Amino acid sequence: KKNKKKKKKDTEPVMKTVHFRQDKVHDFAWFADPYWIVQKGKLWLEDSTRYIILWSMYLPKNAEMWRSSIEYLHDSGYWYSRFYGEYPYNHITAVDGDMSAGGGMEYPNITVISRDRSKDLLEYVIMHEVGHNWFFGILGNNERDHTWLDEGLNEYSNIRYWEKKYSDRDNQVIVQDFVQNKLGIGKNFDIHLFHYLSIAGTGKSRDVQPLNISANENFSYANYGQNYTRTAVMMRFLQHYLGEEKIDQIMQDFYETWKFRHPQPDDFRSFFEKHLDEDITWFFENVFEKTSYIDFSITKNGNMFLLTNSGTFNVPVEVAYYDEAGEEISRLWVRTNDTTTQLDAPPNSASATIDPDQVMPDIYRVNNATKRGIITHFIFDKPSYYDRDINIVPWLFSYNTYNGFTPGLVVWNGFLPGYDKRSAGLNLMYDFKNNKLVGGLLFSKGFDQIQFFHSGVGRVKIGTMAGRSGLQLSFSGTMKKPLTKSPIAKVDADLYYHSLDGNAMDPELYNAGNHTIASLKLEKRWRPSIFKEYFVGSGIKMGDGFVKGSLNSGFTYRMAKKIKTSIFAGVGSFLVSEKIPLQNRYYLSGTVDPDFEQLVIDRTGTSSDFKVLYNTYHGSGIRGIMIDNPLLSTDNIFWHMKIDQSIPILPGNLFLDIAGSPDFEESQYVSAGFTLGPIIIPLYQSWEVESKVPNNFDWIKKRFRVALVFPDIAVGR
Ligand SMILES: [Zn+2]
Repeated sequence: KKNKKKKKKDTEPVMKTVHFRQDKVHDFAWFADPYWIVQKGKLWLEDSTRYIILWSMYLPKNAEMWRSSIEYLHDSGYWYSRFYGEYPYNHITAVDGDMSAGGGMEYPNITVISRDRSKDLLEYVIMHEVGHNWFFGILGNNERDHTWLDEGLNEYSNIRYWEKKYSDRDNQVIVQDFVQNKLGIGKNFDIHLFHYLSIAGTGKSRDVQPLNISANENFSYANYGQNYTRTAVMMRFLQHYLGEEKIDQIMQDFYETWKFRHPQPDDFRSFFEKHLDEDITWFFENVFEKTSYIDFSITKNGNMFLLTNSGTFNVPVEVAYYDEAGEEISRLWVRTNDTTTQLDAPPNSASATIDPDQVMPDIYRVNNATKRGIITHFIFDKPSYYDRDINIVPWLFSYNTYNGFTPGLVVWNGFLPGYDKRSAGLNLMYDFKNNKLVGGLLFSKGFDQIQFFHSGVGRVKIGTMAGRSGLQLSFSGTMKKPLTKSPIAKVDADLYYHSLDGNAMDPELYNAGNHTIASLKLEKRWRPSIFKEYFVGSGIKMGDGFVKGSLNSGFTYRMAKKIKTSIFAGVGSFLVSEKIPLQNRYYLSGTVDPDFEQLVIDRTGTSSDFKVLYNTYHGSGIRGIMIDNPLLSTDNIFWHMKIDQSIPILPGNLFLDIAGSPDFEESQYVSAGFTLGPIIIPLYQSWEVESKVPNNFDWIKKRFRVALVFPDIAVGR
């Protein structure tokens, strides 16, 4: 391998022939770069009779990141040789690919590594790619047919490596040093947690596939990831159950027998059968051939401890018992085929915990301990699960003209895999303007296996903010065939109760008082190709004295990555119009967010720059604004059509909006212009009397608005 540090100028190029020779490899790659810095190192193998030469080659700009790369190569070669069997070749090389191209790529003896965000991630990728010398290189399985056999076993070994090397810092993985170690946010995220979250998050999903299917079949992208993570956490669990010594014995025998050959899954499994007394079918069948998930729980009833299996994957369960003082009395493995099992607890047991070290990838962990304390985290961190995790976030970002700035706290629990999709959030803030507490409470529960739907989520929100106090009960469900991306149907059902304070709202836009609203929306989307997407939707909304119906459809076409055309058309009408609250009318220039779902800075109509409708746009209606009658609205039929066109080179989008109603003076209202991020700049308005296009800067200044169409981020409104 050759490295020219400087280009020789004004001299004839020197030609040179370099020969590379390596026996017993099934692939090769070759890399060159005249600017690389080259580091060389040595790895003495266990018996000290032979050493391996280590090379790392990287660009000067990545020198700081790659400073310890020889150490990473050394430790990878060392631990894999110890775990499975000696590295049989003479070189291990890692080269800097300096692209963000999927982590890295493995070849026998050499690996190319992508750009990484932290030294830990670089070490992670280097050890992973070096590890492929064992799984894929020396044990040459076919990755397209059995991805888990190399990627999965390799990923499992990555966790082993990390837990050997970094146990003194609790196996932490640093992605962002300042955030994790200085601010303490996500400080304790460890190597195993990342893997666990990946599989617990998709535990019950109908989109999960068995690992052991060929990439030539309908193999989803998510399944590619699961082949790494499911194998890794399950193998680690098996190691915990069998003991490290046993695993070493099995793996080393497998390696010795199958090195430089092409093992199949059954060949791998046969070494478990050879070295174990117990039948290991439960593991291999469930982990690799099925999509089953682990979900155990434990309850204490008087002096009785009951173990319940709510999952589809029955595994040996480790249970630890604790006395009154919280000291561990004993722990043992329980194997049962019953749904509910009464456990044989030591007589002085005060509490018990399933899987005390959190090795078993149980998808719903919080019910695995009978005694739970409270633990707090700043912003977020690795969940304890067995205690109640309370994450506390200082909240300084909320503002509206009625409440002013409302500093406070957001306190949350859940929102991560392991909680069975149960989440809760509390936003508690103080309104210094009106001297009262404001904020809200949110509970949500996601479902992966419910009738009629592919998945769904139910929510309860209670809150008081911006002069509205109320309640929202909602369910949204998705309908689609498992593993398909199109078509997807969505149902949204909401029930709202609003109590609106007249002092907090512009009386021209909102009717104060109490409103009970029911809403049902249906939508179906198709994506015939990555270039095209279209949808049709309908909605019905009922309140005390009105029923409002709407139909809409849209089409998006991508000519190229940066050239996109979107067309949206909608029509709506009131089917019952006895008593329509002002906020539910159709406004030509947008909605006033009648159900308080969005961030609206000024509903009071008192600010000069952020008045809803006048200065801010919240979806629906056209993006132009009639400055001498901005509140033009109707309770008759209202239709609108909007076209967005992105153009390469130019930032922002061009838009063309048309709307009309039989109630309005003109038959149609056309506005066109462009949007730059959230800013809407009209350049043509058909209804203008003086000038339909800008004739001075003031024309634009009076008509530009800010589109605030994102949902309110604070919880529970
Ligand atoms: Zn890999």
